[in-house]
Formats: sequence, structure tokens, C-alpha cells
Amino acid sequence: MDLRIQDRTAIVCGASRGLGMACARALAGEGVRVTLVARRAEALEMAADRIAEATGSRPAFVVADVGTAQGRAAVHASSAETDILVTNAGGPPIKDFTDLTLEDWERALDANLLSAVELIRTFAPGMRARRFGRIVNITSATVRMPVARLDLSTSARLALTGYVAGVARQIAEDGVTINNLLPGTIMTERLAELGATADALVARVPAGRAGKPEEFGAACAFLCSEQAAFITGQNLLVDGGLCTLTI
Ligand code: NAD
Repeated sequence: MDLRIQDRTAIVCGASRGLGMACARALAGEGVRVTLVARRAEALEMAADRIAEATGSRPAFVVADVGTAQGRAAVHASSAETDILVTNAGGPPIKDFTDLTLEDWERALDANLLSAVELIRTFAPGMRARRFGRIVNITSATVRMPVARLDLSTSARLALTGYVAGVARQIAEDGVTINNLLPGTIMTERLAELGATADALVARVPAGRAGKPEEFGAACAFLCSEQAAFITGQNLLVDGGLCTLTI
């Protein structure tokens, strides 16, 4: 399917590896002019090289921490008129709830809630004025099936889910959609780093395997397509059927 987004522009956050990079690559493959965002120039250089090799088109990049106001301002300054915005940042640490400090909470809410809220607030007005916009937030399957000990992640992402539910409807008539993509057990570097825990997680997936980052990227590209214009305010699981109770 031709997604009809060739020559559109996209900003993809948290894109030096993993799911963000997979989304960037899928969009670049559709002829979208992509800007990658992450915190380290070296990692971004490598990601841009890999995407260029795969698609023939080398993305630009911005070094920024989207968990900070300064980082978000740099992202906005780099391409204020973007057509597509993919929000994403690394997941917060896994800790027992009694060990979570106020600082842990502030960091998690900055990275996994306020980054998306603030980027949407600053990018959406231009999209509305131009009558086209696609916003995809990478959240988590924990929104549908909370995971004990992932309390920071679940809480921040549920708050973002609630925010998007309202805002998506407020801008729907202007040709701007906002959807959340919920990964579950996709084999990125982050999951692979969990070793035996990753194996145990994969064993629970009804599809019998971990998801591939490119499968997640393809879902993202579709939500950014011309054809997805009537899909907004949704939460799409990409989890191989994980979020269910099996008896
Ligand atoms: P990852 O750690 O492999 O990649 C995260 C990317 O974001 C990296 O490029 C990193 O450099 C960048 N990044 C992190 N913090 C940033 C910040 N503050 N500002 C800018 N860039 C930042 O993670 P992943 O597996 O690709 O997952 C992406 C998101 O999806 C995470 O929030 C993760 O918790 C969530 N998630 C993933 C899965 C999965 O199955 N992989 C499941 C549930 C939720």
C-alpha cells in the first residue's frame, strides 16, 4: 500500500535505537523526510547511517533530552512545521514501590508524560493551521495490563492516555490525529538486555515469539498515513496477543 506520505516531514523522538528508530526507518522507507531525536550525537550518527543504508535517505538529527524544557525547545526549533510527530523516550527504572523517591517520579513523569504533553502542545497548533498532522505516542502495553513493579511506567503512560483521549477529540476536525501505540515484548536492545527475564516474557506471548521492531515501525507508519485520517484517539496494542488472560 502506498501510504501517500512521501515528502512529508517527521520528527521521531527516542530514535537512536529500538522502537523509535524502527518508526523512523519505516517512515523514511515511505519517503518521509525524518529528523531523529535522542540525547547522544554519536548514537544518532550511527542510527542515521543505518537508516540511510536501509532506505537510501539519511535522516537529520537533533541532540536533545525530551524530558527537559530546554530539550523540547530545541526539538521545536529544529522543525517547527513538521507534519508527523512520534513521541518516545526510554522507560523508567523498575523498583519496588517503597523505594520510589520523589525524584524518581519527577524523572519518569518528565520523560514519559510531560515530554509528549509539551511536544503536542507546541506542535499541534501548526498542524491544525496546515490542516494535516499525525501524532503517534509510543506508550506501553502496561496501559492495558498493568505490570507490578513497573509502577512509574504504568502511571505516567496512563496519565498520557487520559490526556490524549481528550485532546485528540479537540483537534480531530482540523485533520490532525493523535494515537497511542502500545508495545508489548518487542525485541529491542532494551528487552534483550534483560537476559533470562526477556526469555520468560517472550514465553508468555500467545504469538509464540517476541515482536520485531520493524512490525512496530510498520504500524506507526500506517497511523501516519493519509489512509489513517479517520483513526484518532485510539490505543493500538502491538503485542502478539499478550494482553489477555489465558485459562
Ligand atoms: P530503548 O531503551 O531501546 O530505546 C529508547 C530510545 O530513546 C533510545 O534511542 C534512547 O537513547 C532514547 N531516549 C531515552 N530517553 C530519552 C530522552 N529523555 N530524550 C531523548 N531520547 C531519549 O527502548 P525501546 O525498547 O525502544 O522502547 C521504547 C519505549 O517503549 C520505552 O519507553 C519503553 O519503556 C517502551 N516499551 C517498550 C516495550 C518493548 O517491548 N520494547 C514494551 C513496553 C514499553
